[in-house]
Amino acid sequence: QDAGTGTHITLLHTNDVHAHALEESPSMGLAKIAGLADLYREANPNTLLVDDGDAVHGTSFATLVRGESIIKVMNEMNFAALTPGNHEFDYGYERLLELSKMANFPFISANLTQKDTGAAPFEPYIIREVNGVKIGFFGLTTPETAYKTNPNNVTNVSFTDPTEAARKMVAELQGTVDVIVAMGHIGMDQSTEQTSIDIVNAVPGIDVFIDGHSHTLLENGQLENGTLIASTGEYGEHLGVVDLWVDKGDVTKKEAYTVDEKAAANVTPDPEVASLITSIQSSQEPILNEEVAKSSVLLDGSREKVRAGETNLGDLITDAMRSVSGADAAITNGGGIRASIDAGSVTKGDVVTVLPFGNLVISIDVTGADILAALENGATDYPTAKGAFAHVSGITYKIDPAKPAGSRVHSVTVAGAPLDLNKTYNVATNDFLVAGGDEYKMFLGKQQTGTYGTLDEALIQHMQSLGSVNMTTSEKRITAAPT
Ligand code: ATP
Ligand code: ZN
Repeated sequence: QDAGTGTHITLLHTNDVHAHALEESPSMGLAKIAGLADLYREANPNTLLVDDGDAVHGTSFATLVRGESIIKVMNEMNFAALTPGNHEFDYGYERLLELSKMANFPFISANLTQKDTGAAPFEPYIIREVNGVKIGFFGLTTPETAYKTNPNNVTNVSFTDPTEAARKMVAELQGTVDVIVAMGHIGMDQSTEQTSIDIVNAVPGIDVFIDGHSHTLLENGQLENGTLIASTGEYGEHLGVVDLWVDKGDVTKKEAYTVDEKAAANVTPDPEVASLITSIQSSQEPILNEEVAKSSVLLDGSREKVRAGETNLGDLITDAMRSVSGADAAITNGGGIRASIDAGSVTKGDVVTVLPFGNLVISIDVTGADILAALENGATDYPTAKGAFAHVSGITYKIDPAKPAGSRVHSVTVAGAPLDLNKTYNVATNDFLVAGGDEYKMFLGKQQTGTYGTLDEALIQHMQSLGSVNMTTSEKRITAAPT
């Protein structure tokens, strides 16, 4: 490749790894990524590795120890900084602060404030001097976190306008540093109110915007308003590389590319990182490999199915919630069911992978009208996938997709009898929905009658009591039918 003039800086980046620490094609695994980083550091000592968020949550490797394993591995990998993404909040705000203290690298975000103190929980930016070149990195966290994690996790946090925060950071860093790098867990999804592209168009002066959240793979970056935007997909399938040349305070050249498992086929995993991952993994194995039950069928938790209709796994999970609580009925959101389970031996590890949020099972007293509103809320986009889609036990209902959203649910029964809008029912659900997550506003502030441990524990217990699972087809608790 053609060199620019001046000092060559290499920025390595990851985003949306979602705790994919282990090598599992096409994920390279963190030891392989560390091995790649070693090679880049050998080739150019002016190399820094950063992460753009959604690192600590998403697999049992992380969930079992509420994120600590990932921080330990990242410490060994010599990360320079991390921007918290929405999933960094999934173990609660206090846990996020604890994880940031376990890290030997800073968590940075310029658009977070703690409501009770008004203070910023993290440094908005850091400055790293590399071979005489000063690089300012500032973080941005998606305001979507306010509704993309359990609302209880963010009651004490405000997410301020990311464009305003970026403008302030550039004003503060310009003149002080040679290179300005934004680390945004912001993304480029059309549905996002302010995308990374919107931000760099509104705020000139950012040399590089390292992006995450939309899981976008930009193979050679994207130049917008003079800013090079780089984003490297998801799950550690690619390592992002940005090459910069800086001469007397000016960036003379910048370019981006990504490295995937094919390109890294001959790279040796970093031995220290590999042995750390192996030792964490083997300490978890006895728990994860414990058999819970046998299933004669695939339990379907695939994203497009559980967010758009009844599946046997949705039935099983809601049955478990009803059984552990003794409630009249159970309702849970399809978006909270994160994987399928293959037929055969079902392990605790499988269950934790399906239900990684550590959600609590909570029973609440609600009216029949609230139940109807909840089912309507899950059915607004039906048959298009939506995280809110309502899986049920003790309830049956029909959806008429020809009717407008909000009035398409009909023929609801509870415990075999037609729904009585004025009657009070005891319903088991999860703490995410009780807090109004996925727009289940009708569950907010309802009288709670009990808390019954976590959803994964309830499912384990239920499957153990069944011994063998053979829900061959779903039970038609939820069907599409005209009114
Ligand atoms: P990313 O930020 O990487 O895109 P994601 O895949 O989780 O992460 P979505 O596909 O939008 O993002 O998933 C969000 C859905 O996940 C929510 O609509 C909700 O159904 C579910 N969800 C998120 N947090 C929780 C939680 N704590 N408990 C239960 N369900 C949750
Ligand atoms: Zn993500």
